[in-house]
Amino acid sequence: MRIYIAGSGAMGCRFGYQLQQSGQEVILLDNWQDHIDAIKQNGLKIVGDKPDCVKMTIMHPTEAHETADFIILFTKAMQLPQMLEDIKQIIGEHTKVLCLLNGLGHEDTIRKYIKEENILMGVTVWTAGLKGPGVAILQGKGSINLQSFDTCGKESSAQIVDVMNQAGLNVIYDEDVLPSIWRKACVNGTMNSTCALCDCTIGEFFATEDALHTVRAIIHEFCEVGIASGVKLNESEIVDYVMHVSEIAAPHYPSMHQDLVQNHRLTEIDFINGAVARRGRKLGIQTPYCQMITDLIHAKEHILGISK
Ligand code: NAD
Repeated sequence: MRIYIAGSGAMGCRFGYQLQQSGQEVILLDNWQDHIDAIKQNGLKIVGDKPDCVKMTIMHPTEAHETADFIILFTKAMQLPQMLEDIKQIIGEHTKVLCLLNGLGHEDTIRKYIKEENILMGVTVWTAGLKGPGVAILQGKGSINLQSFDTCGKESSAQIVDVMNQAGLNVIYDEDVLPSIWRKACVNGTMNSTCALCDCTIGEFFATEDALHTVRAIIHEFCEVGIASGVKLNESEIVDYVMHVSEIAAPHYPSMHQDLVQNHRLTEIDFINGAVARRGRKLGIQTPYCQMITDLIHAKEHILGISK
């Protein structure tokens, strides 16, 4: 199977590496020139659980020409529209496209380019990091829940699930993936933005009653908006899940802290708390916490001189 990874940062490298190791033809697509040069010159270096170094094909998205059997999208959320525009030429009648980006509402962008029966939406608890250009940090284990966007595509998705499972990616075909996508968005919406704003670890943020009040208020807004959008969400179950994740991840700075505070990169806030605030406005639901957090993250992006 010819598989393109559209956005080959930390997660794209993990998935591309595992799929290539399992015998698939994998092409990494990316726009970060130092990363492309490093992989072309030295191969992709893996550090972490099982250090390795492998030769991998990598190119700019617009340089890819052969039709894809399968494309995995792994840009940051705000890079997705441009990536889809840049890979139009490799999308064929039967090309399956999987989106595992964090955040909400990506299907609205993807369906402008891909037939609904070929879109797979999902969520993953695999993680990855980048030590620098061409060096991926792969630690721990994970899994993926995915579902065909259109029920017509369910049968033809079976081959994708098989291929990914042969690569050890632990995929489950989920008959209703939306609640899992929203639950993960709640984790990101309570930890990422808050720890980036407070410049602290997850454990430090979750240690005070003031912070926990904010966490519960954010989850309430996500659930009100999600349920009004037809997603089956159980608020108390999500609160328990978020608290559980906060304990496991206590010593870590979440990815938005790494992006904004440590690396001065734009954040995915418009697709997490910002997405809930936008959808809430359309539905007539008040989301003051999500709106304020989105505004504050944008203010911080502006202060750091990295606004759009
Ligand atoms: P990433 O930032 O590592 O890569 C995304 C894009 O940004 C890639 O094209 C990459 O080349 C580019 N990039 C990265 N560092 C750069 C730099 N210093 N200069 C220029 N370009 C740079 O993103 P990711 O962590 O792979 O995440 C992709 C998607 O998956 C996001 O939606 C994220 O929220 C989600 N996600 C990430 C993780 C994780 O553990 N990293 C886990 C689950 C979901």
